[in-house]
Amino acid sequence: TLPLAGKVAFVTGGSRGIGAAIVRRLAADGANVVFSYAASQAPADELVRSVEAAGGRAQAVRIDSADAAALTAGIDKVAAEFGRLDILVNSAGVLALGTVDQFSLADFDRTLAVNVRAVFVATQAATAHMPQGGRVINIGSTNAERMPFAGGSAYAMSKAALVGLVKGLSRDLGPRGITVNNVQPGPVDTDMNPADGPNADGLRSLMAIPHFGKAADIAGMVAYLAGPDGGYVTGASLTIDGGFGA
Ligand code: NDP
Repeated sequence: TLPLAGKVAFVTGGSRGIGAAIVRRLAADGANVVFSYAASQAPADELVRSVEAAGGRAQAVRIDSADAAALTAGIDKVAAEFGRLDILVNSAGVLALGTVDQFSLADFDRTLAVNVRAVFVATQAATAHMPQGGRVINIGSTNAERMPFAGGSAYAMSKAALVGLVKGLSRDLGPRGITVNNVQPGPVDTDMNPADGPNADGLRSLMAIPHFGKAADIAGMVAYLAGPDGGYVTGASLTIDGGFGA
């Protein structure tokens, strides 16, 4: 039997990039996956079709993670429909770049709302339903620990916030047998950070393995944490970055 057979997973930001690879992987491992997206309905629908064609089960829901009430209601609805919720993956994220002299407060607020506040909100909603053995997995960033270029202060701050968040949440939820972790990718080829983009050569020059990761690489680590072998890892931030932070 598949490692996640019978499990129900909710993935935020699953329509594209790393989140989409996580949706594919959790579904391939047997989970019933519901994923959210902010705007990209066509890619979301296409992902559902392709998961179903591969024999898996997925559903897409449009929820802006910055809307706490909508996010909570969406997660409650999944738990009610399926009668359970075992795995939450917080992958939705935004990257706004700009040096401090020009960074807008609107971008600062949006960064915190999506990258941090929504992670807390979704965790609060999902863990209200989670049984023993539940899993919360965030997509942080190696930039929590190393931000080697200008313009990334708010983004780095938002990902560093998750490091502390999972430590505290692991203490809240450990007694219930629920683990809470961050996966911290380095450069991964997505729309957010294309391997052929203007910053790509600079990023590669900072890596021990000088090429971008694939979204599926990140999904592999998420699958480990979500699966039966991952149950003793909690409060941890696990970096998967080709040596960007080495
Ligand atoms: P993409 O920009 O390629 O995709 C972002 C995904 O998140 C999309 O599915 C998007 O939905 C969704 N999303 C964005 N904002 C919201 C929102 N407010 N509400 C709901 N969904 C939202 O990003 P990546 O795949 O590259 O990044 C995924 C995560 O990985 C992020 O947290 C990012 O910070 C992190 N990360 C990425 C790295 C990289 O090099 N790519 C490196 C380290 C970390 P829609 O399609 O509707 O816009």
